[in-house]
Amino acid sequence: MHFRVTILGSSSAIPAFGRNPSGQFLLHHDRGYLIDCGEATQMRIQQYRQPLRRLDAIFITHLHGDHVLGLIGLLSSMSVNNRLEPLTLIGPVGIKEFIDLNIRLTHSFLRYELHITELSNPDFTQAVFETEHLSVFPLPLQHRIPTVGFLFREKPRRKKFIASKAFADEVPPSHFHLLKQGMDAVLADGRKVLAEDYLAPPDPSLSYAYCSDTAYTESLIPFIQGTNVLYHDATFLAALSDRAEETAHSTAAQAAQIAELAGVETLLLGHFSARYRDLDDHLFEARAIFPETYLALDGYTFFISRPPGQPHAASQNEVTDPAEPEIPENTDQDSI
Ligand SMILES: [Zn+2]
Repeated sequence: MHFRVTILGSSSAIPAFGRNPSGQFLLHHDRGYLIDCGEATQMRIQQYRQPLRRLDAIFITHLHGDHVLGLIGLLSSMSVNNRLEPLTLIGPVGIKEFIDLNIRLTHSFLRYELHITELSNPDFTQAVFETEHLSVFPLPLQHRIPTVGFLFREKPRRKKFIASKAFADEVPPSHFHLLKQGMDAVLADGRKVLAEDYLAPPDPSLSYAYCSDTAYTESLIPFIQGTNVLYHDATFLAALSDRAEETAHSTAAQAAQIAELAGVETLLLGHFSARYRDLDDHLFEARAIFPETYLALDGYTFFISRPPGQPHAASQNEVTDPAEPEIPENTDQDSI
């Protein structure tokens, strides 16, 4: 299996140049996860044809508006569209009050159960969400208000059954299910076959780390060591590292430095300031330090997979044309 992540928004603070506030739709084993929910996220989900019906959980990093102002609209629309399945929402302290207040004041009503978990002083070694195939861990980020990132990590996979060897040894296929489960089998002729002879080590588990918003912080590194794909705040270029420090954001170079130190395979840059129309410099700056870097632009979909016999690579394709660019009027308000 693989992860598929579609970028719904890559802008910081305000929409700019066709880039929207933060949001990503992640798919794994046919289950959907939304990470952050800036304004108009539900429109981006429609535009990029994301399977909202499969949405199981929403993960919110922090309460700055460009990461949460799309929540009420999305939650309401799902209710209007007759969603009945329960939904999990995990976010910082205050997220419950934010939702309850908005739902009440807008006279909205949710037809489904919304299970909210607020993270206060999270233990970064403990999963905050689990499925049969996946664990999600909070990540320590450093921002101006309490903020956590999220690591999506597959649970260890099963050992791989070597069917060709079993056929070669004339093991009847009716015994394969036992061997696959690690159980030895006795054949009709009395021959005993050992499961371990037909099981190969499993493929390594895949992982995706979402780290925005954050200043440069090496305390993050132990938790994302060896991650397949890292999405990291790259609000500014290195020329504005003072501004990055002041606003608790990162530069493209700092994102690349974290990727390099953490030994990840691929880096995605995002959360771009509205002061930059063109983002080529972000890419050049980061690739000078960490070559395997891509821009995580609105509408791009990245596959995190490991096809047998091929090296890992996140592929990218533009699902749809971004909207016409608009020039922001106040570029001082470019980073929340
Ligand atoms: Zn922020």
